[in-house]
Amino acid sequence: MFQVNENYLKLPGSYLFSTIAKKVSAYQEAHPDKEIIRLGIGDVTQPLAPAIIEALHKAVDEMGRAETFHGYAPDLGYGFLREAIVEGDYRSRGVEVAADEIFVSDGAKCDCSNIQEIFGLKNRIAVCDPVYPVYVDSNVMAGRTGTYDPETEVWSDIIYMPCTRENGFVPALPEETPDLIYICSPNNPVGTALTKEQLQVWVDYANEKGSVILFDAAYEAYISEENVPHTIYECKGARTCAIEFKSFSKNAGFTGVRLGYTVIPKELKCGDVALHSLWARRHGTKYNGAPYIIQRAGEAVYSPEGKAQLKKQVAYYMNNAKVIKEGLAQAGYEVYGGINAPYIWLKVPEGITSWGFFDYLLENAGVVGTPGSGFGPSGEGYFRLTAFGNSENTVKAIERIKALKG
Ligand code: PLP
Repeated sequence: MFQVNENYLKLPGSYLFSTIAKKVSAYQEAHPDKEIIRLGIGDVTQPLAPAIIEALHKAVDEMGRAETFHGYAPDLGYGFLREAIVEGDYRSRGVEVAADEIFVSDGAKCDCSNIQEIFGLKNRIAVCDPVYPVYVDSNVMAGRTGTYDPETEVWSDIIYMPCTRENGFVPALPEETPDLIYICSPNNPVGTALTKEQLQVWVDYANEKGSVILFDAAYEAYISEENVPHTIYECKGARTCAIEFKSFSKNAGFTGVRLGYTVIPKELKCGDVALHSLWARRHGTKYNGAPYIIQRAGEAVYSPEGKAQLKKQVAYYMNNAKVIKEGLAQAGYEVYGGINAPYIWLKVPEGITSWGFFDYLLENAGVVGTPGSGFGPSGEGYFRLTAFGNSENTVKAIERIKALKG
């Protein structure tokens, strides 16, 4: 009889967002006339920018002619996109990254979960708490996390680094030494970002301890403050200790288009073994490349027109963030984030849990958010709202929440 990967059976409950979806559809079935505003899942709502649509059309037409047809893409990505990425995201910022250190993929979720395959099972992982659930669950599936305690909701072999209002949502260096450290900045879910000095502390620590930082920069486009780094390679020494993940989902609305990339500098080694070679081997074996059409769309993100249009799109979402943050503050809530990230993290009122607050908002305001406890034990007592809705709905949602307080 065949066996299954029993690690999958250890995963507690269902994925956070499917639990939310079930609760919302049950509520909607019971109240079909109530209008629900969704500020829960971090999906974008604005259409693709014209420069991207134009690039997509052009690439589709190319695929319809024998002379310009493209079959399998190069495993690691087309040169035109890798060059555009290097220029747009690194060289223009004075940061050293070479085109052949870029691995193009269909998104950051796959990359930041698949990356753990190139590391030994005995590696200890450290995650911020609360955290983007994919980092933890993908390691559970691999069998790297030990046993789960449903009481405390923690895994025995994971090092949790609490990020709460008490420490300004900046993780402290852990007492136990981790091998792999997941850092997401600007952060999902708490919506804050590390300054260059704060990130440098982690880079120095990783180099000293021989750890690898898995740096998720999916929300980089939302940085508005000067002292927040746009890439971990702005920090001295990051090339010997950090892998960076980028996504086109949030800066360019590619959540349904799918494109991302990972950077592995050639100097990042374990003894003589370059992680770059391992990931190239993994990518070449298990992945056949992001579609040509989509990579051309990705290239358009870096064109002058694309950049100007996307700047406006990011500003649109960040205006929503401002509306949410200011509206909630006026209503008396304690709010964090929303300055360098499209997420607002609010403290729920005393005496109510995150899920309790979820039900309260759904039932009384018809607004869907995400309970903080779904992101880890230190998320209990907090609640996440996203700025990715359309502006009319965002304003309406905040008015409804304010009215509850009045
Ligand atoms: N990383 C973080 C922190 C995210 O919040 C998300 C999506 O919400 C992703 C990665 C996924 O990005 P992608 O759409 O490129 O898979």
